[in-house]
Amino acid sequence: MKIDKLVVASHNAGKIKEIGQLLAPYHIEVLSAGDLNLPDVEETGVTFQENAALKAEQLSALSGLPCLADDSGLCVDALNGRPGVYSARYAEKTLSDGEVVRDFNQAMERLVGELKETGNPDWSAHFSCVLAFKMPQEECRFFEGRVNGKIVAERSGDKGFGFDPIFMPDGFDKTFANFTAEEKSAISHRGRAFALFIKEVFETE
Ligand code: IMP
Repeated sequence: MKIDKLVVASHNAGKIKEIGQLLAPYHIEVLSAGDLNLPDVEETGVTFQENAALKAEQLSALSGLPCLADDSGLCVDALNGRPGVYSARYAEKTLSDGEVVRDFNQAMERLVGELKETGNPDWSAHFSCVLAFKMPQEECRFFEGRVNGKIVAERSGDKGFGFDPIFMPDGFDKTFANFTAEEKSAISHRGRAFALFIKEVFETE
């Protein structure tokens, strides 16, 4: 089936723009959940796949359009896979006026502190990303990407976002926050999941 319009299950302008650029060669109109006044979907799943599916299924049902959703996070072996699906929430803090904001400097400090407390010298970790793609009247399809690496105690670099300054991918001597966006996409969990999605959905039709 020819796809000319796609809803991305996110209100994050940066994410929408990035996905629009990736899909530009295929002449797809990329709409955000906000463009269609669609609500935020609560991430109640306990796996990346469950959360991505929840978002893709609900927003495709509400819009009647093909929908793409992603869920991602950082999993640290010595912390039994935490923060995992709770990665974004792990950085949340409540200000004195009750507003909830994300503070990743505090989250990285907390993560490194928890790792030190384990006494485990193995700081292996990976980022995971699951994309869920739902066409109306079809089952959800999933595409998964992962990048292995380790957590480092000292933050380094000012690019990227989230936990990038303390994540060093295997085979490199610098953290993700020292990678350009293109370098990161070539090996990242999200870049890998997207490559699989584009190959299956747009390059085999
Ligand atoms: P999501 O938007 O619900 O998928 O939240 C993902 C969360 O996982 C982000 O808020 C970050 O904490 C973390 N995360 C996912 N991907 C990355 C990445 O590429 N670099 C740094 N942190 C990431």
